[in-house]
Amino acid sequence: MAVQNEVIVVGGGLAGLSAAMRLAEHGIFVHLVSLTKVKRSHSVCAQGGINAAVNLKNEGDSPYIHAYETIKGGDFLANQPQVVEMCLAAPNIIKMLDRFGCTFNRNMEGGLDVRRFGGTTFNRTVYCGSSTGQQLLYALDEQVRRYEVKGLVKKYEHHEFMRLILDEQGVARGIVMMDHYNLKLEILKANAVIVGSGGLGFMFKKSTNSTICTGAANGRLFMQGMEYANGEFIQIHPTSIPGHDKLRLMTETLRGFARVWVYGDETKQIKDENGQWIPCGKTGERWYFLEDMYKLLGNLVPRDIAARAIHQVCELGLGVEGRKQVYLDCTGFDETLVKKFFSVFEIYQKFTGEDPRIKPMKIYPGVHYTMGGAYVDYPAEEDGDRHLRFKYMTNLTGCFNVGESQYGIHGANRLGGNSLISCIFDGLVVGDEIVNYLHRLVQDYKEISEEIFEKSLAKEQAFKHELMSKKGDENIHQLHEELSEILVRDCTVVRYNEGLKKAIEGIKRIKERYKNIKLDDTSNDLNQTFIFANQFKGMLEIALVIAKGALLRDESRGGHFKPDYPERDDHNFLKHTIAAYDPDQPEPVMSFRDVDVRYFSVAKRDYKKKVTLESLDLSKIPTHLPAYV
Ligand SMILES: Cc1cc2nc3c(=O)[nH]c(=O)nc-3n(C[C@H](O)[C@H](O)[C@H](O)COP(=O)(O)OP(=O)(O)OC[C@H]3O[C@@H](n4cnc5c(N)ncnc54)[C@H](O)[C@@H]3O)c2cc1C
Repeated sequence: MAVQNEVIVVGGGLAGLSAAMRLAEHGIFVHLVSLTKVKRSHSVCAQGGINAAVNLKNEGDSPYIHAYETIKGGDFLANQPQVVEMCLAAPNIIKMLDRFGCTFNRNMEGGLDVRRFGGTTFNRTVYCGSSTGQQLLYALDEQVRRYEVKGLVKKYEHHEFMRLILDEQGVARGIVMMDHYNLKLEILKANAVIVGSGGLGFMFKKSTNSTICTGAANGRLFMQGMEYANGEFIQIHPTSIPGHDKLRLMTETLRGFARVWVYGDETKQIKDENGQWIPCGKTGERWYFLEDMYKLLGNLVPRDIAARAIHQVCELGLGVEGRKQVYLDCTGFDETLVKKFFSVFEIYQKFTGEDPRIKPMKIYPGVHYTMGGAYVDYPAEEDGDRHLRFKYMTNLTGCFNVGESQYGIHGANRLGGNSLISCIFDGLVVGDEIVNYLHRLVQDYKEISEEIFEKSLAKEQAFKHELMSKKGDENIHQLHEELSEILVRDCTVVRYNEGLKKAIEGIKRIKERYKNIKLDDTSNDLNQTFIFANQFKGMLEIALVIAKGALLRDESRGGHFKPDYPERDDHNFLKHTIAAYDPDQPEPVMSFRDVDVRYFSVAKRDYKKKVTLESLDLSKIPTHLPAYV
């Protein structure tokens, strides 16, 4: 029987939508499954912009500099072929989005406008006011709708991915999904599954992420045998507004115009970028500490560096009003800037009651982004076995993973503006890869025994029944509260081995208590408690991966900082941490795998000198790489 061109895409964010669009362009039928309405996917929250070295200000920018700065920003833990291909494709991806009618900001001549984000000296970020994610998501949604009308895409919104269906050879053949309105479990069949399920900030409870960002989809896949990489790398964004319910992001691009400061205290000292102790400004005067500590990039140092500096300054007792907060000062903005940042100012005013045009904002670092994720393959074009491997395929045959839920591009720290481009890039690439995958697949899902599908469904039904019937005395939201306290305390800006060991034991205790929960709602209608309790199982497994990965990595790299091991240790840890699940083990099974560093030499990461094209050795990069757009 001919293999049907039929694929499931789990996730309607930028990664999922761009995959769906590309698959449909190839004439492949797409089942698009999403927890929420596709247009409510978390990508809609992205504010600041999307990176591409379009060099619109004639600064000498180039995709190769973009690639190098991405790799350096990630403290050399990113896989270089993937980064280089993304950065080379990025300018054309922007042109594609512009053609789709995405409402990018324009300069006075009508061309695209660009601005600066962290970790670079170039204006490389294309943007749509402060709602870039929304505009991109809507632009891609429109494209996908065109294919929906043509009968090539079928959407299952408010449906949750629960389980991957694997045939006897371990090949992905479909999923079990759950309708969120009535909790009905259903089988969906296809010849490949692409997962683009986004980040996991909600595990930490308070983060800049939405409540749907639980990481549960990856948690479930992990428990089914999917390897998970670099779990310990969680990005803490330097500028969020602390809130009782959640943290709200103040976009990084504000730091291109605003200045971060606290009142100085010359009796105290801090280390600058040269490792020299410098006084903390002058007592009683404004101290622009990032500018003082990092001369070239100043306020626009990468996020891990800025977050650590803010944390240190507050630990020294210099936080504004004696609290854990510093000023982000936008009070001098002219009307044009106020207009550009209107929506973020509105958010700030709404949630703090203060007008950032009059009073400096008070901000503090907050959990923001997941660098780690599903381990996926990424063969380089020049690899001898390229034709036998598939970009973005996990270790589960036929199951691919893209966007924030995969691990490969951002290494130990993501640069601002790089996620949106990576999500769209991933989707386009995986769409092309699937064509080859389907060509090579010998058996169609229709030839797979019905028993295989029914068994998977039965497993989910049994778990649903088990959860609903529990009569213990633990409350799922209380367990989440305690999990988040552990993760925030031990797995964010600063990490200590003693704390991490306690964190692992604490998570294991929560796992035990989870067996003893009782749901306060056991109905089948819109039962949010059941939905969350079900997700929590996978979240606990990934929480263990985060803590254990952090414990084993005795070095400091990007977003992972251990004061007891303050240096990067390439000898032992220029490696991806790989976690695997073993139901018979109390903790994930960890190993390390080499990073693909074939194009650029690994170097010390500092920001004292501007990167130029002339300063880069590009001799190892092939001249012909796929364009994708
Ligand atoms: C406040 C904020 C601002 C940001 N600003 C920027 C920025 O300016 N520039 C930048 O580059 N990056 C930014 N980012 C990061 C960027 O927005 C995200 O990394 C990116 O949008 C993630 O896209 P995605 O497609 O991978 O996932 P998402 O957009 O999160 O989409 C995930 C999809 O998966 C679905 N899903 C999840 N689990 C399941 C399941 N079990 N079953 C079915 N469906 C499921 C969801 O419904 C959703 O459709 C920002 C992030 C935040 C939080």
